[in-house]
Amino acid sequence: MQSKKQPVKRSAVVLILGRPNVGKSTFLNNLLGTKVSITSPKSQTTRFNIKALYEDDRGQLLFIDTPGIFKKAQDKLSKKINKAAMQALDMDFDVALYFVDHTRPRDFEEGKVLGLVRKIKQPVLLVINKFDIKEPSYLSQYRFLEEEVPGVYYLSALNRTHIKPLLADLFSKAKRPYPLVEPGKFQYPALNINSRIFIEELIREKVYLFTREEVPYKTGVRVLEIKERKNKTLYVKALILTSDKRYKKMLIGRSGRMIKEIGMAARKELELSRGKKVYLDLSVETDFHLLD
Ligand code: GDP
Ligand code: MG
Repeated sequence: MQSKKQPVKRSAVVLILGRPNVGKSTFLNNLLGTKVSITSPKSQTTRFNIKALYEDDRGQLLFIDTPGIFKKAQDKLSKKINKAAMQALDMDFDVALYFVDHTRPRDFEEGKVLGLVRKIKQPVLLVINKFDIKEPSYLSQYRFLEEEVPGVYYLSALNRTHIKPLLADLFSKAKRPYPLVEPGKFQYPALNINSRIFIEELIREKVYLFTREEVPYKTGVRVLEIKERKNKTLYVKALILTSDKRYKKMLIGRSGRMIKEIGMAARKELELSRGKKVYLDLSVETDFHLLD
């Protein structure tokens, strides 16, 4: 009788790169779904990198989601985020996923990310995301990238399509022994003062992403309350503080659209980092005293 030999399990560390809003978080959140556990980072230097562990019978993939790279890093926070993105390149990873969004034209920001990508010595796989969207498409502006990489994947992170071949490719590049992360070692950190700062900075990042240059850098976020509710959801009450009535209006947006978008993006990412449903109660106030 022939004995069935189990294939040897392997692990890999996968770095995810791409400008803001290309769908990096959605990829981790949706595509890998429940098979992923995520930890919010603890140390100062890696505060903005989110790690997610994917595991199946082939082994483990540890994804590192880098923060956005900002066009104009004028304030302290975005400088810090840029630095975190750069430092990610020095990390010990095996393969990188370079996410692009074909529904938006290439721009200066993309150029910056591409500059980073070209410095990578490990294999880089190109992920052309949002392929569920046909129009508008600037695919022709990204086509030249296909020649620079050993693999190209057209994905819809939102609809979870074309994940299988990408995962197969990643596992084919997995050379580290299994397990990379011991079972049970990958846990959500307890809620503490650092979570408060983490949440404040996460919301602040979203404010910056959605308002860009329109709203000045004099915007602060204060988390007033974090409560674990009985039904396992996390209740977070937070305030966006700004120095001027004009900016308050902008932050709220027409019929509350802007604050809704900021809140939704922050909530999604919070859920990702905490592994549970989050209720985010977000409002905007003008208060000079609460800003340093
Ligand atoms: P990140 O900044 O790269 O982490 O981007 P996010 O994951 O936060 O996604 C930015 C926006 O793009 C969100 O509104 C997502 O819902 C949307 N998005 C992400 N992936 C897809 C996709 O495959 N198709 C479509 N239609 N939208 C997507
Ligand atoms: Mg993200």
